[in-house]
Amino acid sequence: MPKNAVIAGAGPVGLVCACLLADEGIPVTILEAAPDLPRDLRASTFHPPTLDMLERFGVVPAMIEQGLICPDWQFRDRADGVVATFELARLGGDTRHPYRLQCEQWRLGEMLLARLKANPLADIQFGAAVVEVRQSADGIEAVAALAGGGTQTFPGAFCIGADGMGSVVRKAIGAEFEGSTIPEIYLTLSTDFDFSAAMPDISNIAYVSDPEEWFVLIRTASVWRALFPVDAALSDAQVTSTQFAERLLQGAAPRAAPYHVLHRTAYRVHERVASHYVKGRLAIAGDAAHVNNPLGGMGLNGGIHDAFELAAAIAAMLRGAPPDRLSLYERRRRKVALDTVQQTTLRNRAILNTRDPAARAAYYADLRRTVADPAAHKEYLLRTSMITSLRDAEKAL
Ligand SMILES: Cc1cc2nc3c(=O)[nH]c(=O)nc-3n(C[C@H](O)[C@H](O)[C@H](O)COP(=O)(O)OP(=O)(O)OC[C@H]3O[C@@H](n4cnc5c(N)ncnc54)[C@H](O)[C@@H]3O)c2cc1C
Repeated sequence: MPKNAVIAGAGPVGLVCACLLADEGIPVTILEAAPDLPRDLRASTFHPPTLDMLERFGVVPAMIEQGLICPDWQFRDRADGVVATFELARLGGDTRHPYRLQCEQWRLGEMLLARLKANPLADIQFGAAVVEVRQSADGIEAVAALAGGGTQTFPGAFCIGADGMGSVVRKAIGAEFEGSTIPEIYLTLSTDFDFSAAMPDISNIAYVSDPEEWFVLIRTASVWRALFPVDAALSDAQVTSTQFAERLLQGAAPRAAPYHVLHRTAYRVHERVASHYVKGRLAIAGDAAHVNNPLGGMGLNGGIHDAFELAAAIAAMLRGAPPDRLSLYERRRRKVALDTVQQTTLRNRAILNTRDPAARAAYYADLRRTVADPAAHKEYLLRTSMITSLRDAEKAL
């Protein structure tokens, strides 16, 4: 029986799985469809327990150096300003990193890749798109279409599908991707304008609620990123035009000079969870298993938490644990995706875009009560930082 794992996808989740398994002495083959790691702007929020977990790879000091520590974050009303500011220092006894770190996800990817390249147990194949996965009682075979032409078959004991939203491994498992797609498109604009000049009391992370046009402002080490929901009926040319960006940014913080937009990304947002994560020797993690809106920064973090649980399960099985260990992975992590990630991000979206004045007032009153009460404030932070979901998952049998 082979003693290695084949991982489809070299996104952050696949790379974390690969590092964990290779560190356990388990050979890994990573098959990545793209010619190299992309440097596009995607997630940038790392929650406290994720930083605690990533410490073992020795990458956190460099992430902190390249990123921006955010000690608090806010809900604001577009017209009236601060509604509630959540202070992560209150988690000092629960984590070694009582803050959110803003650091672009590609930076972590590059650090993990460099680490894997130095490990002879890791074989990384770029330009290798998994097109089919087969399994038998003894192992798996992943068939990859190679960028240079032709296909190659990679055998292994297990196959991890960390191949993102369109996962081939999820399809091989036969899982449905249950949920829906948000009607709007999300547009992220990065600018060198300092929003704290316009809103002196703004946190580095601010969710700005408005019945007509909500937005999110997130500061990184070098820029501010502004996220806006936009009408999906608009053409790509309209959505990515300079005039459109200018109108949105002037709406967020009016100023005499025009905005200088450094990057823009427009993407469709889905809220879906796979009907199951495991079949025999195949398992999915990260965006392959669940996708959500980015309001709360839970997708990437939840995916990394999956990676730790899944790598532990596979390492245990290669050492003789019964097959139920992989089912435990599914029970633990699918529950988190449904009960924490989807629920929190759906609620965040509701707080931001609810039009009904009474419902809006009720959300605000609830947030204000929560920050004013030390126990409720801390409980909220434990939940939104994903510490509670990790603790609950550990208890699940
Ligand atoms: C455009 C965009 C913007 C985003 N912005 C935000 C944001 O602002 N905030 C936020 O919290 N989250 C954001 N996200 C989500 C966040 O990036 C993901 O949650 C995170 O990347 C998940 O990591 P992953 O490793 O599971 O999947 P991915 O990062 O998607 O990695 C999957 C990898 O698998 C590879 N692959 C795909 N198919 C195959 C195949 N058949 N064979 C081999 N390799 C394959 C892909 O090339 C990719 O490298 C964004 C996502 C996108 C797409």
